[in-house]
Amino acid sequence: MNAPVTSLRSKATLSALDAQRLLDAFPSAVVVFGPEGEIVAANRRAEHLLAAPVATVIGQSPDGAFRLFRERAERIATAEQARFVQPFGSLWYLVESFPLAAGAQSLRAIVATDITDMKSAEFEIRESEARLEEATRIAQLGTYKFYWDTGKIHWSAQVYAIHGMLPGAVITSERYRDIVHPDDCELFDRTHQDQLDGKPIRGVEYRIIRKDGAVRWLRKDARVLFDADGEPYATFGTCQDITEAKQHEQELKSLLRRNTILYEALDASPIGVGVVTTDSESPEFFYVNAEFERLTGHNTSSLSEHGIDTLTPGGELGAGWARVVQTLRASVSGAFELTCLRRDGGQFLAQIEIAPVRDHPGRDATVFVLNLRDITVDRQRADSLLQSQKMEALGQLSGGVAHEINNLLQPMLALSDLGQDIADKDPAKVRKYFEVIASSGRKARDVVRQVLTFARRDAPQLAPYPIADLVGDALHLLHSGLPPGIHLTPTLACGDAHAVVNPTQVSQVVLNLVTNAADAMDGEGEVALALTEVDLDQVTAAQLTLAPGRWIRLSVTDKGCGMDAYTLSRIFEPFFTTKLAGRGTGLGLSVVYSIVAGWGGALKVDSEVDKGTNAMVYIPLATDG
Ligand code: ADP
Ligand code: MG
Repeated sequence: MNAPVTSLRSKATLSALDAQRLLDAFPSAVVVFGPEGEIVAANRRAEHLLAAPVATVIGQSPDGAFRLFRERAERIATAEQARFVQPFGSLWYLVESFPLAAGAQSLRAIVATDITDMKSAEFEIRESEARLEEATRIAQLGTYKFYWDTGKIHWSAQVYAIHGMLPGAVITSERYRDIVHPDDCELFDRTHQDQLDGKPIRGVEYRIIRKDGAVRWLRKDARVLFDADGEPYATFGTCQDITEAKQHEQELKSLLRRNTILYEALDASPIGVGVVTTDSESPEFFYVNAEFERLTGHNTSSLSEHGIDTLTPGGELGAGWARVVQTLRASVSGAFELTCLRRDGGQFLAQIEIAPVRDHPGRDATVFVLNLRDITVDRQRADSLLQSQKMEALGQLSGGVAHEINNLLQPMLALSDLGQDIADKDPAKVRKYFEVIASSGRKARDVVRQVLTFARRDAPQLAPYPIADLVGDALHLLHSGLPPGIHLTPTLACGDAHAVVNPTQVSQVVLNLVTNAADAMDGEGEVALALTEVDLDQVTAAQLTLAPGRWIRLSVTDKGCGMDAYTLSRIFEPFFTTKLAGRGTGLGLSVVYSIVAGWGGALKVDSEVDKGTNAMVYIPLATDG
């Protein structure tokens, strides 16, 4: 390359050959045009743009790129020179066009330099700038510069957006302070001073109040900029809108606080509370509160490790727990009284209530809340209370009983004396006396029997019996004792349904109700007795304080004298009677009441004066198995 240049210098003029070599050495494509626009010269680099070897295009008008370059150059070359960037194909060219004075001829040279690489580098920079801008926009992150000497502040467009201001608005430190939240002004001043002192700022969070009234949380980071001499002159910082993050943080904090309060409240609860999950094979304890721990002696981790079995005493006492597990499996609620085993081996009578925690309606729950109470003492107290109430009633009874027995003893004693006197003279009369004595004795025995029902401490044994058969038997016994004018029409319509009762008590109940009905009709009329199975709905069941569902109902109806409201309100009181002395003891209905309550059933009496009375006894059905 150097050789031709040296030889050029040594000669005064350029030969055409030299000129061609010079052109070919050019790093750009060069084409020289004549006055008619014909190609006068071209270099090798121009060949591919002309799409033909140089030799064949001399004297021709150009095709391809150079035609385009020349046309554009002519269009814009007002000052004869033109310089522009022009794409062609997939490449970019910097095109320069200028006149050449070659003797009398006016020639024009067009030089096209491939700048595609430069161009793509430029694109890349622009693209990465655009990406950065997008990233800062998404992150709500802006940048700013603060010049110390002038106090001038320069903000990026994003900082303006964060502050809800139009880009270009003039900002000074004083003005800025006006939009800082009053509570954060002190912090802001301190930070500003740090900035002036050339200290970096790390994650300072403060609030501003935007013009539209919105309070936004901002986070500021900044560092000092130094000039070429190492002198600090400005602060460069970033500013980020962290309002949403702050809100989430606040929500999380209040959630945690609520959680803490809930746990503290649960621990303060006087009832044992456990949370049980049934995700796996056997129920697992997820949580128990302090009272639960105190009652069982186990903490949550011990319970979740050993499971519900650890609360179950062995043998018969543990049987109830199977129902607890069944209830959890069935995903229903339930209440139980069973023996619970403490960690130290002790036992207590526990009341357990289970309620499913449903997260989706209609779907089986897998989380349950389990309430646990120690009712050992309560139960003992309740039992003794019941007993003392009985004794109290017995105290009331004894007066009445004494009076009653006395009334019955009078004729017995008197007639015995009389009978002794006339035993030889009038045996027929004495026999009559004996009848009266025996009848009085029987009545006295009835009174004593009724009283004993009250006083008995231990509950009579209950078991499932076919109830229709028991009632049938009772009616059979009763029949002969009823006044001849009374017609009994029994309807026993419950098949062989079994009820959980005591047979002797069933006959006591039937006897008392039918006797009352017969008394109410003065020994003349019809007593309807019906035994049926009924379904109690929620409301009816609640009125009777029974569980809704299937029950057996014994109904005794008469069309006798009926009762007024006052009488009706007292019929369950022991010794309340409206009957003549010797005829009623006033014990019948109170005995029926306590018997039925002992079965877990209910007694209801409806009555209307002169219309009649209907007594209904609800008896628990025996469940299968
Ligand atoms: P007693 O029958 O000995 O009087 P009860 O306890 O059986 O005692 O009945 C108490 C009272 O309730 C009766 O005296 C009567 O006034 C009233 N009574 C009970 N059943 C009926 C009925 N079927 N019809 C009208 N009154 C009744
Ligand atoms: Mg009676």
